[in-house]
Amino acid sequence: MRAIDIIEKKNKNEILEYDEIKYMVNSYVKGKINDKTMSDFLWLIYNNGLTIDETIALTDVMIKSGETIDLSSLGMPVVDKHSTGGVGDKVTLIVGPIVASCGVPVPKMSGRGLGHTGGTIDKLESIKGFNTNLTEEEFINQIKKIGFAVTGQTKNLCPLDKVIYALRDVTGTVASIPLIATSIMSKKIAGGADKILLDVKVGDGALMKTMEDAKALASIMERIGKAHHRDVICEITDMNVPLGHNIGNSLEVIEAMDTLQGRKGKLYDLCLDISANMISLSKGISYDEALSEATEALTSGRAFKKFEEFVKMQGGDLSSLEVSNQTIDIISNKKGTLKNIRALALGELSVSLGAGRRTKEDSIDHSVGIVIHKDIDDKINVGDKLATLYVKDKNLKLNPDDYFEIK
Ligand code: URA
Repeated sequence: MRAIDIIEKKNKNEILEYDEIKYMVNSYVKGKINDKTMSDFLWLIYNNGLTIDETIALTDVMIKSGETIDLSSLGMPVVDKHSTGGVGDKVTLIVGPIVASCGVPVPKMSGRGLGHTGGTIDKLESIKGFNTNLTEEEFINQIKKIGFAVTGQTKNLCPLDKVIYALRDVTGTVASIPLIATSIMSKKIAGGADKILLDVKVGDGALMKTMEDAKALASIMERIGKAHHRDVICEITDMNVPLGHNIGNSLEVIEAMDTLQGRKGKLYDLCLDISANMISLSKGISYDEALSEATEALTSGRAFKKFEEFVKMQGGDLSSLEVSNQTIDIISNKKGTLKNIRALALGELSVSLGAGRRTKEDSIDHSVGIVIHKDIDDKINVGDKLATLYVKDKNLKLNPDDYFEIK
């Protein structure tokens, strides 16, 4: 088999065999084909798509590229949650402790930032000492002890996804429905979840810009789940404006803690909704019963205590969260009503401040980011502070209209 023949076949939009897909991606991991050839292949998938059989085949190859985790010793159905990615999406940091403090184990395998969207692992690494590389044994022991653990993709879990994910991040091939579906589902299945709740984001700041694409992604992930005998539930949620007020790694951890301590808003409501769905799925109780359990865990402070316990157990020191001491304000030059907060533009701005990566080798700056001070429908006056940027370089000239629509 030759990579060039497979690329030509995909270029002609012909359907690839299981072995051809396997050959292509395995050759990349083994270093037999280079970044350029693999990028060409990813571009063809991005442009021409994959059939459902090809998508299921790629998912299977990804799962089999490493080990799978057996969580049956936890003794109850394990529900995993995954977001397809957005701007300011710190939901895992809030939902994990809520659900775990209701007695439902949450073993969470998370990723790094991808394109303009942030990643839970990068956020947690803004906490000094936090270990995002648990061994399988440490991971399972922690879940048995406190019900919640987050780890990066272990070296042996879907190693194929790990390398392709990193290449997609810097080759403009992130927003491909089959590539997202295989990436997410291979990790969830290999990670041992019985039931999978997928938060499919749609809108300007999401990878899926239209409801039609979001529904297509949800449907493909459900079909992959079915092929692997997993219950998959997809929620399609809005990502036209950033989720919450903070964007950037340590700033998002801070907002997650504020929410766990009772700060209300869209983020608070969404986290309760996702928690209720996860608890209901695992315990087999109604959504309403699960919602009242989740609300009690949050309002009693149990969920926040669980978060502190989780951070401590993974070696993190919450007093060390670093936020840059240099700031720039975005000031309104208009009077009117805030009609839109442009999630994509703010996500890209956050990456350009250093909160995300532009190349595979980039390291990120956990201390930079953006805090948005206003909400949709707020009345705005000339001179109002719309957002504050936490930066390392104060020589930035910004036009508020690029980020906020005021009419
Ligand atoms: N999350 C993932 O794990 N993979 C993707 O491709 C997108 C979001």
